[in-house]
Amino acid sequence: MSKNLSISFEFFPPQTAEGIEKLNTTRKQLAPLKPEFFSVTFGAGGSTRDRTLETVQQIQADGNSAAPHLSCVGSTRDNIRAILQTYKTLGIKRIVALRGDLPSGMATTGEFQYANELVSFIRAETGDHFHIEVAAYPEFHPQAKSPRDDLLNFERKVKAGADSAITQYFYNADSYFYFVEQCHKLGITIPIVPGIMPIGKFSQLARFSDACGAEIPRWIRKTLESYGDDSASIQAFGMEVVTQMGERLLEGGAPGLHFYTLNQAAPSLEIWKRLGL
Ligand code: FAD
Repeated sequence: MSKNLSISFEFFPPQTAEGIEKLNTTRKQLAPLKPEFFSVTFGAGGSTRDRTLETVQQIQADGNSAAPHLSCVGSTRDNIRAILQTYKTLGIKRIVALRGDLPSGMATTGEFQYANELVSFIRAETGDHFHIEVAAYPEFHPQAKSPRDDLLNFERKVKAGADSAITQYFYNADSYFYFVEQCHKLGITIPIVPGIMPIGKFSQLARFSDACGAEIPRWIRKTLESYGDDSASIQAFGMEVVTQMGERLLEGGAPGLHFYTLNQAAPSLEIWKRLGL
């Protein structure tokens, strides 16, 4: 397998002392794989602002590169400016720039409506300091008016200054290849790295997927359902499916893989090993 692949791992900022301990262990297990970066999610409206910052500081202190996610919905320019300044001071060089989803009960969208506005703002405020990642949706964002609109909205983020993209997870490699092909037709050449979600608990996966518009193909859903509570079989089958898809993606030219770890090391490590990375 090529040595130039961009491999990254995503964490969420833990809430409890136990969660922090667990993530420390996970990070120590994944760090020897020398990922390009560890990214840390950010609750929309700034709900995890301090915890995201703490997690990012830990990652940097251990000598690894951290890429904080930054969502702009419900935020003001002053807020975002202050966060960017903090990250700059900490030596952070990469940011995952997102719109985010307004938490229920939060009435105002704030001063940014879409992620392309955030990307433009980051560029205007900080020039080329940050490598900016944005989100891409091979199966389309659930609120997009049409696939074409979604693609053009993705193009807006690229034109605003995004350097590369990470996709929403999917279990259908064709959707990724088609999306990349459509991007190429528009002249978009930034790397688009597939997001990989290992399969753990079926009910949790089904819930996530419904919310974010990721399709679980019928053959996968039916097979997972048929295992009921047999988590060993679910995980073995999930591992096989995700590894095969990862192989296809890399053979088909994907520039790397971004693992949605859910703060666990074992599934990503196993996929890594099976893919011969
Ligand atoms: P946008 O690119 O702004 O798109 C949102 C919707 O608006 C799309 O339907 C798009 O077609 C449409 N749109 C975009 N621009 C325009 C425009 N100018 N005019 C009209 N319509 C437009 N969420 C979090 O809260 N925290 C995280 O840390 C986080 N990390 C993520 C990481 C990755 C890799 C991915 C794929 C998603 C992540 N999300 C996160 C979820 C993300 O915030 C949601 O999917 C959100 O609904 C959209 O964010 P976006 O940046 O893709 O938005």
